[in-house]
Amino acid sequence: MPLELLAQNTTFFLGCVFILGLMVGSFLNVVVWRLPIMMDRQCKTECREILELPPEAEDGTYNLILPASTCPHCEHKIRPWENIPVISYLFLRGRCSQCKKGISPRYPIVELATALISLLVASHFGYGLQTLLVLGLSWCLIALTLIDFDHQLLPDDITLPLIWAGLIINSFGIFTSLESALWGAVAGYLSLWSVYWLFKWATKKEGMGYGDFKLLAALGAWMGWQVLPMVILMSSFVGAFIGIMLVLFKGRDHNLPIPFGPYLAAAGFIVLLWGDKLAAQYLRLMAF
Ligand SMILES: [Zn+2]
Repeated sequence: MPLELLAQNTTFFLGCVFILGLMVGSFLNVVVWRLPIMMDRQCKTECREILELPPEAEDGTYNLILPASTCPHCEHKIRPWENIPVISYLFLRGRCSQCKKGISPRYPIVELATALISLLVASHFGYGLQTLLVLGLSWCLIALTLIDFDHQLLPDDITLPLIWAGLIINSFGIFTSLESALWGAVAGYLSLWSVYWLFKWATKKEGMGYGDFKLLAALGAWMGWQVLPMVILMSSFVGAFIGIMLVLFKGRDHNLPIPFGPYLAAAGFIVLLWGDKLAAQYLRLMAF
């Protein structure tokens, strides 16, 4: 019955997607904060094992669910009513209810942005499987973007499952054929991999990371090899533009690495939604 309502009433459907987007955005804030810490812990544990050192004292469980979120300043446990996306932030006026220290506006912004992006996806693809799948992909891209911004890191825990998911989904031909998905993953990885080695050979510097290859492989697996030139072109333009702006206006050292993942993710999302239109526009321009 509720499913029928979702299918028949567009406003209701979009409203539900928006609210779902807010809640997912709230969860993504947790993922972006905790996943790098979890990876760091995992890595240290494994290194100690390899070096045959005794394990470090247990810090207790730490995953995406436990322990419950606390205020970073006063350890005040965040109660359910303080955890409602966006609304709690406004209600608390951006301050912890206990110590009154400011809460970063980034949290409600991520929640709202996730909800708006989800809304965009749902109104573009309409009620159905495609929306569900693209929502999943978009949420992963948001998490990757933020983690890459914070840590210059694209976790395998997100990129590798995305590659597999793209291949499995397209074995049913949902976005493209399995064949073009497979070669999309291969070409996506190899194209940036070759750029990386050429760049390294020419400048003795590292221009990007292995995470970028895997992310482009995932985009290729979801959309097929045909979209890769457009994704690379678009992300390079946006990346170069923002990079130049940062150097010019913020006096940023041009030797500092600029994460490439966010641009790849943004370009992938744009191509996923409007790739056909952009390609048609481009061909029309070239015809003149
Ligand atoms: Zn506090």
